[in-house]
Amino acid sequence: MDTSEALSEEQLKEHEHYMREALNEAEKAINSGEVPIGCVIVYNGNIIGRGHNLRNNLKNPLCHAEISAINEAANFIGDWRLEDCTLYVTVEPCPMCAGAIVQARIPNVVFGTRNVKAGCAGSILNILDEPRFNHQVNVIEGILREECAKPMGEFFKRFRKKASAENSEAQNQ
Ligand SMILES: [Zn+2]
Repeated sequence: MDTSEALSEEQLKEHEHYMREALNEAEKAINSGEVPIGCVIVYNGNIIGRGHNLRNNLKNPLCHAEISAINEAANFIGDWRLEDCTLYVTVEPCPMCAGAIVQARIPNVVFGTRNVKAGCAGSILNILDEPRFNHQVNVIEGILREECAKPMGEFFKRFRKKASAENSEAQNQ
């Protein structure tokens, strides 16, 4: 569901501003050969955490954009609770990151595009809005959807091309 349609023009502008910052982070991921996902965390109008996917480069399955941004924001706040923060991420959070968002008690999440294969803000599960947990997150989706989806589409197209080239190379050997 596109919840961005119910927003005022001013709110929309603000969300788009921070989503562009998250897109800048995603760009860094692209440049280092990672799945292009970027994230920023905003507190009192300031960005206090940034992150992009670094799983491949750091050879660490935990190094998702949201986890890095949460680490930085928690260091800044000096607490594990990130109350009054809004997390912007270009792509719907996976189960690990959605879990971390709930653990950090982040009240607001804004994401750009859905991840039908791993998303846990409604696509596969809805960890962010599960009444049996002790924390529920307000979620807005669809902010700069196309811009957020584009690098993902291009990445996987390139990835598949590379995989099929390597495959045919392997077959020729
Ligand atoms: Zn994740």
